[in-house]
Amino acid sequence: MNDLIELFAEVSDSLPQYEDDETAFDGLWAIDESRVREVDYLQADVFKKYHTETELMRYIKRLDRKDISLTHSMIPLGSCTMKLNPAAAMIPITAAGWTTAHPLAPVKQVGGFMEMFSELGRQLAVITGFDGVTMQPTSGAAGEYTGLVVIREYLRARKQMQRTILLIPESAHGTNPASCVQAGFTPVVVKCDEHGNTDLADWRAKAEEHKDSLAGCMITYPSTHGIFEMAIREMCDIIHANGGQVYMDGANMNAQIGYTNPATIGADVCHLNLHKSFASPHGGGGPGVGAVCCAEHLTRFLPSNDKSRVSSAVFGNANMALIAYGYIRMMGEEGLREATANAILSANYMAEKLRDAYGIVYTGVNGRVGHELILDCRQFHALGITETDIAKRLMDFGYHAPTLSFPVHGTLMIEPTESESKAELDRFIDALLTIRAEIAEIERGEADPKDNVLVNAPHAEYEIVADEWHHPYSREKAAYPTDWVRDNKFWIPVCRVDNGFGDRNLIARF
Ligand SMILES: *Cc1c(COP(=O)(O)O)cnc(C)c1O
Repeated sequence: MNDLIELFAEVSDSLPQYEDDETAFDGLWAIDESRVREVDYLQADVFKKYHTETELMRYIKRLDRKDISLTHSMIPLGSCTMKLNPAAAMIPITAAGWTTAHPLAPVKQVGGFMEMFSELGRQLAVITGFDGVTMQPTSGAAGEYTGLVVIREYLRARKQMQRTILLIPESAHGTNPASCVQAGFTPVVVKCDEHGNTDLADWRAKAEEHKDSLAGCMITYPSTHGIFEMAIREMCDIIHANGGQVYMDGANMNAQIGYTNPATIGADVCHLNLHKSFASPHGGGGPGVGAVCCAEHLTRFLPSNDKSRVSSAVFGNANMALIAYGYIRMMGEEGLREATANAILSANYMAEKLRDAYGIVYTGVNGRVGHELILDCRQFHALGITETDIAKRLMDFGYHAPTLSFPVHGTLMIEPTESESKAELDRFIDALLTIRAEIAEIERGEADPKDNVLVNAPHAEYEIVADEWHHPYSREKAAYPTDWVRDNKFWIPVCRVDNGFGDRNLIARF
């Protein structure tokens, strides 16, 4: 370590002028004996095998080939917004000027970042209709927590700390009640009606029942049921009339940008998932930016450098904000509006094409969905076919599974986004219709209810080419269910796994 320190000191031209250079750095490297690791580490084979660049490169490529990503096909995950991450918007995150900035550097050295943040903040304020913005939270959930802390501090300043109740509709994303509890509030769940809307009577009754202790509500718009609640303004009014503040979960902002915004519906504070609505890759939980925007009366409670910090870095995942900034700049007002329209159009196109075959769980009063749709799979349970079987069968077609059984059990939630071409949407629709026809074969008794392409999916290459094949259907039907699959076949690395067992028994294998 001393050698390393000396090397860096020499390069940065700050070698101290000692008479005897040999000892200049002795003793700099000091570590508490109790913290010295004595067990062997990095002992797994994987750390010993790939010690040439070529071997390592091939190892990484091999892992890459097992992974189905947007480079292969549409990722239809609902509530996740897997949209295009424009390469042009991602250039800055590896460009020297941006990557060399140190998080603790004085402001005059990171002037470019400050300029970008202030401009991005202005853009997000226009988009949400709000006044204050912070980029500190590093995920949507952290944004929810931050927004609630803002409400808490506002209530504290008004000596209203007895207000601890937050109304949350049962359609809420799971992070809402979790953030509520984390921020010291108590959630009260409000029912939804059979159309997926929050039950307005229950909302009003609970707001009035708790009017002395109501801190506010958390409401997602459009909801996680994929619909725009028509009574949203009235819901916000009811909360205000009973002394509360309205937190709008803006993770689905891609269904609003350019058409409406949280200020218009009457909300007080919201978070935006820059890593969803404003592009930027976000597989595996990060890195994200859960920017929080709020109305004027709340701005002084936003986290700053020294006050109510929610992240160890003042600007959170600063580099990721560059992607959103680039995306917004390149799209412009018209482009953003068009993206919103296309996202909603794509979802409704799919809903129309799939409505008869599956059924759409929730639609708004005009029969339309928002930016995502929930396919009903419950009617197939009697045949022994579950939503999991459909999700697994989609892998044989080269598709990542949609969101499974969330927020409604026995369903698949799909969000096509504006980024997918009509040709890709049509392929995905064709896959789901082909699967529906395969279910019909079971219904008509033509396929074995216990041994069919669905319950055995996905079919890996090692199974298809094996000498033994005992299923009543052909290998070709299993592996190439449609002609277009032949052109872009993705061989799944393993056959069906037991999801529940895997979740409970996580074992890393290299
Ligand atoms: C994704 C999402 C969140 C959470 O965002 P993370 O960045 O995953 O923490 C919250 N609410 C809704 C509606 C979401 O879709």
